[in-house]
Amino acid sequence: TGAPTPRSPRISVIGTGYLGATHAAAMAEMGFEVIGVDTDQRKVDALSKGIVPFYEPGLPELLLTHVTSGRLRFTTDIAEATAFADVHFVCVGTPQKSTSFAANLSYVEDATRQVAANLVRDGLIVGKSTVPVGTAARLREIVAESTPDFVTAELVWNPEFLREGKAVEDTLAPDRLVLGGASAAAEALLREVYAYPIGNGTPVIVVDLPTAELVKVSANAFLATKISFINAISEVCEAAGADVSQLADALGYDKRIGRQFLNAGLGFGGGCLPKDIRGLMHRSNELGAFAAAGLLQQVDEINMGQRQRVIDRAIDACGGSVLNRRIGVLGVAFKPHTDDVRDSPALNVAAALQLRGAQVVVYDPRARGTAERIFPTLGYADSVADAVSGADAVLVLTEWPEFLAADPAALGALVRTRTVIDGRNCLDSAAWAAEGWNVLSIGKATVH
Ligand code: NAD
Repeated sequence: TGAPTPRSPRISVIGTGYLGATHAAAMAEMGFEVIGVDTDQRKVDALSKGIVPFYEPGLPELLLTHVTSGRLRFTTDIAEATAFADVHFVCVGTPQKSTSFAANLSYVEDATRQVAANLVRDGLIVGKSTVPVGTAARLREIVAESTPDFVTAELVWNPEFLREGKAVEDTLAPDRLVLGGASAAAEALLREVYAYPIGNGTPVIVVDLPTAELVKVSANAFLATKISFINAISEVCEAAGADVSQLADALGYDKRIGRQFLNAGLGFGGGCLPKDIRGLMHRSNELGAFAAAGLLQQVDEINMGQRQRVIDRAIDACGGSVLNRRIGVLGVAFKPHTDDVRDSPALNVAAALQLRGAQVVVYDPRARGTAERIFPTLGYADSVADAVSGADAVLVLTEWPEFLAADPAALGALVRTRTVIDGRNCLDSAAWAAEGWNVLSIGKATVH
């Protein structure tokens, strides 16, 4: 008997960060032989030992299983991948440029060029990174220029919609698969690669290249707009004495609206939504699509304004200045179930309060390491109790289950002042108020 024969085609994944490492492990789980390529030697070393260099539930188990079985391996050598694989997924980063809102496309261009130039037989290059519309057409030119004469390469776009924290389940069972610009042969090959989710009912949407690129950023723009919408309404709620959580619950029953992404609070962050809406804003302006650009500008401004609202609330709560006040911050990850602090609203608020002279002590169940690398000068605690000990105000900035389960009576005994700012509207404010806390939420009256 022994191990089942691996399925063909053979797969390479270029770029093994959050997206690529998950995609590579999931492809191995679906039965393929996979090689992951990254320019970061330390990442490759860790992954080769079956260690995920970031926190993602379910991924360590999957990685270890398939690294151990030999079905999944990692290298820094692109030529090893092109010698091995038939389908090459490009999963490298497309961060915001430091000088503008545009996306930095140098990694995706380099990776695509390197795959194409190293091909030794016909290959399918599948872009998964999030890119501004029009990028894939340019990458096709790069592929045409770089591919050796004796091989034929096709480039298609297959944007990725996975959510950090649910990356494994989203990759094994995505809501939909979008295939952009695929020839009949490429489509057939990708239907083989994705036979597992397709067999479980995942719909496949076949579109042209620009539509595929735009589906991804439009999805993120819509989600961001939904969050900024409810945050804008939360301001009205506060001014009018209404309760935004009850309002969102009532809105959410409308099937056309839905309850998800309607939580008022500190706003969105992370490695995707902020840079993707800014990238789309920039690209829309370039294309003369000014309505989209204007809308996204507002969405971004409302989102960044939420951080300021929470900072102002903390300053108010401390009597007009946070200078020398001790502030306990619960949560610095940009959302729960991740250690990602890229563009994290929570970390941003913590750092801003420290700049204003506060002694900020942070606790996060997973993101201490990643936060400490960016802001080594913040105070870091190993527990909720240590973070809030002696605090003049407590700020809940990431809705980790651990914080929702915290005991307000026990914490009340540790702080100097029982003031909690619930930046995610996630606490049971009546239960906290019953223990003598002042609970300041977003878009609702203060509960005493
Ligand atoms: P990341 O920064 O975690 O990973 C990118 C990796 O690419 C890094 O490990 C880097 O070393 C590697 N790399 C760069 N140039 C390379 C090259 N030439 N060859 C090989 N490796 C190279 O980024 P990420 O979060 O995984 O995002 C990757 C892309 O996927 C982005 O476009 C992002 O917008 C998109 N995306 C991310 C998510 C997410 O939740 N993280 C979801 C959907 C889409």
